[in-house]
Amino acid sequence: MSKGMNAEGKEAVALKCGVETDEVDREAADVAVQGAEGSDAEVLGFSALTFRRRLGAWYRENARALPWREVGDPYATWLSEIMLQQTRVATVIDRYKEFLLRFPTIHDLAVAEEEDVLALWSGLGYYRRARMLHRGAQFVDREFGGKLPRSAVKLRTLPGVGEYTAAAIASIAFGESVAVLDGNVERVLLRVLGQAEQKGSRARARLADAAQRLMPAASRRSSGENAPGDHNQAMMELGATICLPRTPLCLQCPVLELCRTRGEHVTGARAKMQSRTVAHLLALRKRGIVTEVLLERRAADASLMAGMLELPGLPVGITQGREPVLRLRHAITNTNYYVQVFSEGIVPKEAMDETDVGGLLMENILATKGDLRWVTTTKLSQQPLTGLARKTLQRLNLMALPQVTIRL
Ligand code: SF4
Repeated sequence: MSKGMNAEGKEAVALKCGVETDEVDREAADVAVQGAEGSDAEVLGFSALTFRRRLGAWYRENARALPWREVGDPYATWLSEIMLQQTRVATVIDRYKEFLLRFPTIHDLAVAEEEDVLALWSGLGYYRRARMLHRGAQFVDREFGGKLPRSAVKLRTLPGVGEYTAAAIASIAFGESVAVLDGNVERVLLRVLGQAEQKGSRARARLADAAQRLMPAASRRSSGENAPGDHNQAMMELGATICLPRTPLCLQCPVLELCRTRGEHVTGARAKMQSRTVAHLLALRKRGIVTEVLLERRAADASLMAGMLELPGLPVGITQGREPVLRLRHAITNTNYYVQVFSEGIVPKEAMDETDVGGLLMENILATKGDLRWVTTTKLSQQPLTGLARKTLQRLNLMALPQVTIRL
């Protein structure tokens, strides 16, 4: 049987041979796999089928029970993939559940206010992802009747959906045979293939080709199995839990015998971490039994975290000789922020009246004429706070820590 036989051809063979079309599909897929194996082995240096089988068996035994792996909703897959970009699994778990409770469908998300979406994203960082997800939901609601398209090519038309996310959704939610290539998969591939880290589009294209050669054929919808989705998740799982950036656990690796590196691979120099000292004001006021905290809204055109709320910033010079109520370190990409938080105690309730301000720090904040607002501490979790503001308010016991039960 030829590799490229179309549906009509398969139907004809099925009728002639008296077998079910599904069986012919399976047979065609096997022949295609065997035919491709020879060339794959030449390029990869090992059998793609052997790699897949070992990886698959390991994944079935060792996959972590993560909430997005137990659902068959493409929207949930989309959400989890966006949340997991540059964010640790443990951080994502509770946010993911909260988000789905608040916005259970693409339509619910599409009609939500952006501020509510950002509030639920608070603590995950990289807020552009939330804005693009929101716009993506509006696009899907408008253009596709609220249902995600099934192919990676069409998924790429959504705002905020790049090559990686489109491949992840298409394979995990719809069984398309399209390989994902994220940081974890890249690392696994480089090590298995015995290559050093290389930058540039040609190096990436070579890795994408290797990843695709390892992919199983597309799943038939009626089979209830999803070999491409499972394979992609297994690759990412191997990178996240075994083939770690530092000190990989090679003795536990299912593809140890196929791997040419068996250890860390050669990587380029990492960007040096920068350090910056910043200061913020903690201003509180009492209104009866309610405590309020003063927050400032970042400019709508700020390059980072636009429109998010944070504790008002202070020039570091003005804090000389004062003792902060809190010191903490907060890393954003390649910068370590050494944060100091200063307080002038409880501000009188007239504090927003410029004629009756509490102290020098508060005066300085009012003079900047930023977009300030008092927020009740019990409502902080509903606000679009920056990650640093959330962390600071939690450390100061003004905001509850999320209650998370994580089973990994
Ligand atoms: S053997 Fe080691 S380096 Fe190779 S893929 Fe497995 S964990 Fe990674």
